[in-house]
Amino acid sequence: LFLSVEGIDGSGKTTVVDFLVRRLEEHRIPCLRVREPGTTRVGERLRSLLLDSRLEGIHPWTEVLLYLASQNQQVKEVIRPALAKGTCVVADRFADATLAYQGWGRGLDIRAIEAVQREVLQGFRPHKTLLLDCPVDLALQRRSARTGGPDRLESESADFHERVRQGYLNLARREPQRFVVVDASKPLDRVLRQVEHLLESTGIG
Ligand code: C5P
Ligand code: MG
Repeated sequence: LFLSVEGIDGSGKTTVVDFLVRRLEEHRIPCLRVREPGTTRVGERLRSLLLDSRLEGIHPWTEVLLYLASQNQQVKEVIRPALAKGTCVVADRFADATLAYQGWGRGLDIRAIEAVQREVLQGFRPHKTLLLDCPVDLALQRRSARTGGPDRLESESADFHERVRQGYLNLARREPQRFVVVDASKPLDRVLRQVEHLLESTGIG
């Protein structure tokens, strides 16, 4: 089983991924946590490059190709082999983020990104995707409360994040069987209860 968690920055993805992994471990289900961009040696190098706030003037298509490079590397090096062994994979973002951020956010052609993605990942997709949907201003508040240095997207406008949010909602409407949209503006215990339901519906927990 391959689960991914998506949403705008500050929507609470990392907390939900922590919870999912903890739950799976409690049920003695072997699981692997991955993040996008990142996970592999190559992917983590790409991650530091992509999140570097000094990275000015990067062309949006260069960005897409670097994100896809990270995805390709982790699918082939880590995710596919783990799934083949029966390990459950939980991803803090995956391929949908590229469509939401570089497609809707930066305004690149969605179909063009999808075409390249299909070529590289051969249609590889998570079985279930949890979309943590929350208003941009709330996400911004949560983001400013967290520790850790600023990354490159910290300076993006509220409009940018709103386009990303709408992009994610569009993706969810297009693939209702894969997506589960969770209202992430609710208190954490309510959000986690909904996540629990998702696990039950997949036969876990
Ligand atoms: O917190 P997280 O690990 O998700 O941070 C990843 C960063 O990369 C965020 O700032 C996110 O907005 C950005 N990102 C992006 N385009 C993607 C995936 C992530 O701009 N396709
Ligand atoms: Mg995070």
